[in-house]
Amino acid sequence: MNAVLSSFTGQNRALVGAAGALIIYALFFASSYDQRILTLAGIYVIMVLGYQFIFGHAGALSLAQGAFFGVGAYVTGILASQFGTGFILTFPLSIAGASVLALIVAVPVLRLASHYFALATLALSQLLLLIAVNWVSVTGGANGLPGVPPITIGDWQIARGLPLLAFVWALAVAAMLFARWQLTPLRVAVFTVMRETPLAVPAFGIDPGLLRLRAFLLSAAFGGAAGALFVHTNRVVSPETLGFGIMITCLTMTVVGGRFGILGAVIGALLLTHLPEWFRGLDEYYLVAVGILLLAMVVFAPDGLASFIKPARKSSAAPAEPRITQHATPVPDGQPVLEISNLSKRYGGIQALDRVGLSIDAGEIVGLIGPNGAGKTTLANIVTGIARADTGAIGSADFDLKTATPTAIARRGVARTFQTPQLPDGLAVHATVATAAAHIGGAKDSGARAAAALATCGLTDIADARCGTLPHGLRRRVEIARALAGDPHILVLDEPAAGLAPAEQAEVADILRSLAATGLAILVIDHNIDFLRPLATRLACLDAGRLIADGPLEEVLADAAVRDAYFGLVQA
Ligand code: ATP
Repeated sequence: MNAVLSSFTGQNRALVGAAGALIIYALFFASSYDQRILTLAGIYVIMVLGYQFIFGHAGALSLAQGAFFGVGAYVTGILASQFGTGFILTFPLSIAGASVLALIVAVPVLRLASHYFALATLALSQLLLLIAVNWVSVTGGANGLPGVPPITIGDWQIARGLPLLAFVWALAVAAMLFARWQLTPLRVAVFTVMRETPLAVPAFGIDPGLLRLRAFLLSAAFGGAAGALFVHTNRVVSPETLGFGIMITCLTMTVVGGRFGILGAVIGALLLTHLPEWFRGLDEYYLVAVGILLLAMVVFAPDGLASFIKPARKSSAAPAEPRITQHATPVPDGQPVLEISNLSKRYGGIQALDRVGLSIDAGEIVGLIGPNGAGKTTLANIVTGIARADTGAIGSADFDLKTATPTAIARRGVARTFQTPQLPDGLAVHATVATAAAHIGGAKDSGARAAAALATCGLTDIADARCGTLPHGLRRRVEIARALAGDPHILVLDEPAAGLAPAEQAEVADILRSLAATGLAILVIDHNIDFLRPLATRLACLDAGRLIADGPLEEVLADAAVRDAYFGLVQA
C-alpha cells in the first residue's frame, strides 16, 4: 500500500488532478461549443502522443504527421460517406492505412539525415495533398466529401456533445496507456542513446534501424486514428485534413506541451485548441498575441510546459560486487583473441592504414602509439565495424570482424570506448550501462550485470547521477563500465587517459590491469607513455598507416624508427 502511495507522486498526481478538473468542467460548465473544442483537444492528444514517438523519442523531425492524420481522415471519410462502412471497420482501417503508408515510405526516408528526412516527409504530405485535391472522383476534390455519418457501433450511435467527447477521450486514455506500455524504461533509455550519442549506438549493442521504424509506424498509427476521429467530429473530409496547418498545429502542441510523456501531449493539445478561443476578443491582434505567448513559452520552457512537473526519481542500482569474469564468445586456448593481417584503408588520397598486422592474446594489454594522423583511431574503428577495411582480414575466434555490422561486433564481445566519451547526458549512469548490458548480454539480469560493471570501475556511488553532470574523469570510467557491461573478450580503448589527472590515470590503469588479469584482451591507444609504461605488456607503433614496431615496451621505445617517427613529436 505504501509503495502504491509513494509512487503516486509528481507527474501522476498532477495528471489525476488535471483529469478531475477537466471532467468537472466538461460535465458542468462547458457549453456544447466548449465540448466540441474539448473533443478536438482529445483528438489532438492522440495525434501528439504518436508524434512524440518519432519527434521526441527518436529525435527525428518528421513533417509527415499531418499526412498520416489526413490518410486516416480520408480512409474513414470515403468508406463511411460513400459505402456506409461502420466505425468498427473504418477506425482500424484508418490506422492500418496510415501505418502501411509509413511502412512504404520508411525504407527510402528513414535512412536520411535530419534535414533531408524533414524535407522528404514534407514532400510526402504535399504529394498526398495534390492527390486529394485532384482525384475528384474518389476524394471529392477541393470541396471534399460531406455526409460522414456519426460514429455508430452496432445499434449505439454516439451523438455530438458529451457522448462524443467522452468517447474521444476514452480513446485518448487508451492511446495514453498504449504509449506508456510501448515506452518501457529500457526503450526510453535506448531512444535517449540514439538521440544523444548516435556515434556510440552500436557500442551499446543497439540496432537503431528497427527502433526508428517502430517510432515512425507508431506515429503513423496514432496519426491515422486521430484523423479518423476528426472526420466523425466534423462530418466532412476535405483537403484541410492533409494541409500543412494540421502538421504545424501538431508540432506546436508537441513543442509547447513537451516532446515526451502523456502530460506533455495533454497540456499541448488542450492549450493550443483553447488559445484561439481565449484570444478571440482581440480581433485582428489575436495572431500577434498567440505568437508572443508561444514565443515566451518556447523561450522559458524549452522542454515544454510538462517539464515543470518532474516525475519522482527512483534509485535504480542495487549495490553489487565487482564481477567481470565471463567473456562473450570465449576463444580457444592458444589462439589470439584478435588477429589482424594485411589490413589497409584509404581515405581519398590518404593511406590511413597500410598492410597492418597485429594480434592480441587473452590477458594481454597492448599499447598502440603513433603520431597524430598515424591511423590509430582508424584501426579502432575498423576493429569495431564503424569503418570498413579495403583489404586484409580481422578475425576473433573464427568470427569475421571485417564484414560484420558494428552492432553484431559489439554483441560478439568486442567492446570499445571513444576518444571523446560518448555518453547520453540525459540518462543516469546505471541506466546507461544497463542499456548496453541488456542489448549485448540479454535483458535477463542486465541491471545486476550493469551494477557489477559499475562496481568494477568504482562507480557504484554515482549510479544514479546523470551522465551529463559528471566530470571528465568519471565520464571516461563510465564508458569503460559501459564497455564491460556485455562481458566482452576484447576491449579497445581510444585514448582513455586523455584529459585525466595523474591520479585519475592511475585509477584507470588499475581497472584495466584487473580486467586483463581475468583474461580480457585490451588494446589501448594513447599518446601518454607515462600512462602506458606501467600498464602495457606490449607496445605497437603506427606511422603514416604502417606498423613500424611491435614488441616489448622498452624495446619498442628504444627502436630508432619509433624514436624518429614518434618522439620527435611527443615528450616521453
Ligand atoms: P590522432 O592521434 O590525431 O587521433 P590517429 O592516429 O587516430 O590520429 P586517424 O584518426 O586514424 O589517426 O587518421 C588517420 C588518417 O586518416 C588521417 O590523415 C585522417 O585525416 C584520415 N582520416 C581518418 N578518418 C577519416 C575520414 N572519415 N575521412 C577522411 N579521412 C580520414
